[in-house]
Amino acid sequence: MSEATIKKENGKLLKKKVCPVCKNEFFSNRDDAVFCDKACRQHAYRQRLKQDKIEV
Ligand SMILES: [Zn+2]
Repeated sequence: MSEATIKKENGKLLKKKVCPVCKNEFFSNRDDAVFCDKACRQHAYRQRLKQDKIEV
């Protein structure tokens, strides 16, 4: 990708990520950040619980 995926804000390096729940692009200084928001993390967590139930 030629698009910049890193930006600097307040002296912190932020990496560009795409939230798998709402497909929003967001920047995080955390390497392990996956979701743009706590709400999206909750949403994905509940979806996973649902899927696990179906699989079992
Ligand atoms: Zn999101």
